[in-house]
Amino acid sequence: MRLRSISMFLLASFPGSLYSVHGVAQARNPPRLILQITVDQLRGDLPTRYRDRLGAGGFRYLLEHGVHYANAHYLHANTETIVGHATLATGAHPAVHGMVANVWYDRELGRLVYNIEDSRYRLLTAGADVDAAIEIDPTQKKARSEGRSPAAILVSTFSDELAILTGGRAKVFAVSVKDRGAVSMAGHAGKAFWFSKASGEFVTSTYYLEQYPKWVDDWNAERHPDRYAGTSWKLLHARESYLFGDADDRPWETALPGFGRTFPHPWGAKDGKLYTTLLTLSPAGDELTLDFALKLLENEDLGTDEIPDFLGISFSATDYVGHIFGPSSLEAEDNLLRLDRTLARLFKAVDERVGLANTLVVLSADHGAPEAPGALTELGIESAYIDPGTWDKAPAIEALKRRFGIGQQLIEAFYLPYVYLDRQLIAEHDLDQAEVEHAVANELIKLDGVAFAVSSEALRSGAFPEMPLVRKILNNFNPKRSGDIFVVFEPQRFIADFDGLTVASTHGSPWSYDTFVPIFVAGAGVVPRKVYRRVAPNDIAPTLSAIVGAKPPSGSVGELLVEVFRNE
Ligand SMILES: [Zn+2]
Repeated sequence: MRLRSISMFLLASFPGSLYSVHGVAQARNPPRLILQITVDQLRGDLPTRYRDRLGAGGFRYLLEHGVHYANAHYLHANTETIVGHATLATGAHPAVHGMVANVWYDRELGRLVYNIEDSRYRLLTAGADVDAAIEIDPTQKKARSEGRSPAAILVSTFSDELAILTGGRAKVFAVSVKDRGAVSMAGHAGKAFWFSKASGEFVTSTYYLEQYPKWVDDWNAERHPDRYAGTSWKLLHARESYLFGDADDRPWETALPGFGRTFPHPWGAKDGKLYTTLLTLSPAGDELTLDFALKLLENEDLGTDEIPDFLGISFSATDYVGHIFGPSSLEAEDNLLRLDRTLARLFKAVDERVGLANTLVVLSADHGAPEAPGALTELGIESAYIDPGTWDKAPAIEALKRRFGIGQQLIEAFYLPYVYLDRQLIAEHDLDQAEVEHAVANELIKLDGVAFAVSSEALRSGAFPEMPLVRKILNNFNPKRSGDIFVVFEPQRFIADFDGLTVASTHGSPWSYDTFVPIFVAGAGVVPRKVYRRVAPNDIAPTLSAIVGAKPPSGSVGELLVEVFRNE
């Protein structure tokens, strides 16, 4: 085999490529490029749901040439974007990597914080800060500063370990529409670029760069987002060929002004208030991400020598489309087929520049997704949104008052999934923290839609039986950032409120539809197979470390995905 002989030659020049798993020394072409793709909200069943209609070279490349893990589940309870991304990047659980939620309550600052906000490192582009008037993502709006950095990720990432291994000679980059999708994958040693809806450009912060390379300025000056102006997101194929071809107009889909609930979805004029936002709620967001990533690949010269480089790409459109229309919608179906095309373009370009035989491609997701309750109800499966506005909290507050002399004031903050108690007030009133936590949890459980309310004191003292749900909440528990009570809603029930906008679906639960994601590993000599044993996305980072001969990231507790190392 030609590839084998190339690999034997390269072994001599890069010692990390000779590795040993279970005592068996393995030799394989060492990757020149690690391409780690995250598809935001790509639930584990989605890559094969429309398998007969996939094109060539996208998902089909991964299905036919990769190891496909068809039973991968997150082991933490709060299945949100930064939590999953940081787990993919570090191999650690949120308890240890510290990203316990997109937004948590900082007890020292006395306010909610956004996961990667960092006022020390302003954006490098003026006017690129989150514009609350057009921002649909409710979590980014919580940031008090435009600055961003990975400082709050408490352990090393695989990309950091690659940088350490190679003495900084490996080139490490990540790109995403979402700031947190790029910052997490670039780690502390790499460089991250993300899309500013306010300026319509890919930007970064002063944590990474003091000045943009010329190719970034050039790409932004070319105003690529403008090419969608005055046009619409149309179906890729004939409507009859779609599973949901007859189900475009569903009452639970979110009708954004001008964008509507049915195809075609117009993006509007380029100076429209929501123009760049609408691009990100459609396959256009992924296409722009790809264009920028390919420009990066070329200009930063990734994968062209024997020192492996790292490129992380997080595609965000599947998440936004899922939230707005639901994962079982005509929009989500078309988005997936278009994502398939975007992946095919990516793999073709990588093949031409680096060679897929020299590129280790890993694809996974940060979390899965629930079905829109309306879609389930139509099938006879009970499901509904939860509206906290309808909760009658008075009896709970009364009960707490009777017992402790204080009611509502005991709760300092409530931002899902955590309730934060006012510890100072509890101390001032000489109350027992554990007792208050327990009492508040007992009252929360009585509210409509709440299935479990697990107090942190109970977690610390091991008061719960060893059950998978409790283990997931424990894996999510960081003593400095987690709240005092973790609230779990009943399966198929969730709050679908984006700061006043009701969306079709929202992930974030510990239930299997939210924990289930695909994992594909392909290229660089990996032998294709489908694997049904249960694995976890935090197995990816230590596996990548083993492949390049680096040490695992500092908080990693993942197992090696041994099938990736098999020669036949
Ligand atoms: Zn989401």
